[in-house]
Amino acid sequence: MPKPILLSTPHMGNQELEFVKEAFETNWIAPVGPHVDAFEQEFCKITGAGYAAAVSSGTAAIHLALKLLGVESNDEVFCSTLTFAATANPIVYQGAKPVFIDSDTKSWNMNPDLLYETLEYRARIGKLPKAVILVHLYGQSADIEPILKACNQYDVTLIEDAAEALGATYQGQTPGTFGRIGIYSFNGNKIITTSGGGMLVSDEPELVAKARFLATQARDPAPHYQHSEIGYNYRLSNVLAGIGRGQLQVLSERVAARRRNFEVYAAALSKLPGVEFMPEANYGTCNRWLTCLTIDPEAFGADKEQIRLTLAAQQIETRPVWKPLHLQPVFAEYESIGGEVAEDLFARGLCLPSGSNLTSEELDRVIEAIFTVYHKACNN
Ligand SMILES: *Cc1c(COP(=O)(O)O)cnc(C)c1O
Repeated sequence: MPKPILLSTPHMGNQELEFVKEAFETNWIAPVGPHVDAFEQEFCKITGAGYAAAVSSGTAAIHLALKLLGVESNDEVFCSTLTFAATANPIVYQGAKPVFIDSDTKSWNMNPDLLYETLEYRARIGKLPKAVILVHLYGQSADIEPILKACNQYDVTLIEDAAEALGATYQGQTPGTFGRIGIYSFNGNKIITTSGGGMLVSDEPELVAKARFLATQARDPAPHYQHSEIGYNYRLSNVLAGIGRGQLQVLSERVAARRRNFEVYAAALSKLPGVEFMPEANYGTCNRWLTCLTIDPEAFGADKEQIRLTLAAQQIETRPVWKPLHLQPVFAEYESIGGEVAEDLFARGLCLPSGSNLTSEELDRVIEAIFTVYHKACNN
């Protein structure tokens, strides 16, 4: 059996273990400590964010963001439809209702025109959402400027879900730092990882202070345990923050490696009929967290599912592009604005193994396997 090639696996650098050892030696084995503080500061330095709160997951960060903005029962929150369920789950935790917005074809992210038209209509009927959660999918920034402008015009708060987009740029800046609140994820499959973890950022210090307060059980300042609000246990461990500090040191190398994967795939596979890669929008650089392509089954001779199954039989993991949230059974009751673009990307889209630790032999194996599917399909 050949060695499995997985979609995206953790890739440690040289310093992570040193930071973890330091946590052990100083006995800071707690969701508080010097690595947590340093991780937040170093994260701000790298991203240009004003303030940051390290938390236990990206999902926790989104939940805190909604809580901080006062999203509650029966509020509506607009949300990209082409994303992971974790973007929208916290909307439902709050008893609020997601409204899903379709993608554009140039970035695969939320369509700014569609958002603008929808906000304009909703303003007319007096039914504006409380917030918009904008996702930066597969490491590519959405077109933030028109989206932010539309949100500002209608006084709707922008939250950015940059879980997949650390190390990407939009007009030279980091996606996640434009909205009122941004979030990142350090789950095991992301561009850098703490095994599990997340970050909430904002330029408003009082928002981030409140996030830390809510993430540590909302304890009022008193010698005894005193609570006036419902809190959460969402803070990041000092041990894991140590891993995060080490990972931040190699972020640019990790982005470069993933972009290199993309270049290798694109150079080899673009020759095949019916194969197109997720375009890189001209306003920024994509971190190419995952290399995604679409397969036109007519031109290619096989569809993306045939490719996935053939590669799986050779121990190569690929994954369909996110199933749009408006098609998910759990969100079926909620409204969707458009959705055809995301549906088409789901129907034709496939994510290739994209880890920053893939070897060129492994990339070649993936490429060869896809060529074999193509040649077989041609001969049929
Ligand atoms: C991974 C991910 C999340 C959730 O982050 P966790 O750290 O796994 O909770 C949210 N949104 C998107 C777009 C993601 O890819």
